[in-house]
Amino acid sequence: MKILKKTAIFLIISAFVFLAGCSTKTPAASSETETPTAESVTEPATGTAAVTETERATETETGTVPTPVTEPAPEPIPEPDPIPEPDPEPIPEPIPEPTPEPDPVPETAPAEFVGYTSKGFPIEIRDGRTYIGGLLIVNKTYSLPSSYDPGGMTSECASAFYAMCAAASADGIGFYSISDYRSYALQTWLYQTYVDRDGRELADTFSARPGHSEHQTGLAIDVNTTTLAFADTAEGRWLAAHCWDYGFIIRYPAGKEGVTGFQYEPWHIRYVGTWLSIPLRDSGLTLEEYLGIDSVYN
Ligand SMILES: [Zn+2]
Repeated sequence: MKILKKTAIFLIISAFVFLAGCSTKTPAASSETETPTAESVTEPATGTAAVTETERATETETGTVPTPVTEPAPEPIPEPDPIPEPDPEPIPEPIPEPTPEPDPVPETAPAEFVGYTSKGFPIEIRDGRTYIGGLLIVNKTYSLPSSYDPGGMTSECASAFYAMCAAASADGIGFYSISDYRSYALQTWLYQTYVDRDGRELADTFSARPGHSEHQTGLAIDVNTTTLAFADTAEGRWLAAHCWDYGFIIRYPAGKEGVTGFQYEPWHIRYVGTWLSIPLRDSGLTLEEYLGIDSVYN
């Protein structure tokens, strides 16, 4: 019995001891400071040096030797944008008044009416040039100023000439200009050359004095040649028969030397326009006869 009592006491004491040990034991698995695994301290795979504050704190608490973190260079404080000076109120550029296009210099100044011809056509003077019935007239009576220079064959004359050449070509006739516009200076030289060679009286029958040449108007053309034989060629006959249809006239016809003041020139045509060339052809009159004017040097 005594042994049983001792055993019971021993068991009771042992049970107390056992229970007391259980109450002080701290489970290791619950520690918040568990040493991190190797994985958790591995530098990020990206290798970036930017370790966050939380990560650094964790390493410190766990006793890991922190990798020296290079302090990031402070972001340079950007210079504040200069406050732009307020643009002064732009002074509006004055809108230039559009320069009006100057009126084109009129081809002819206002005409000065000076009378009528014997056939009733009005005679007008514009810038020293004589217009009769609206037509620029140049002969031995009427001249051009030395300054008059249309710059070449006029466009209307050229157009008519090319149209005539095309029509003639269709008939197998070739035309070309051997002389059309001549300047006052060229006519001066040409006339003086003839005077020196043939004398003034003869030269005046076939060459105009300076300012009296129709060639200065840009409306006259010498076609192909300047020989009288031209009249009996196919070209000469075609010209005499058809030039009128294109506004040209044979300006110095045969047998009219006393009226026009110049010898017969079957090659010399003058552009007047069909309004006048057709009546002239039908009447058989010269320009002087039709208009009622003369052609005599003063
Ligand atoms: Zn001529």
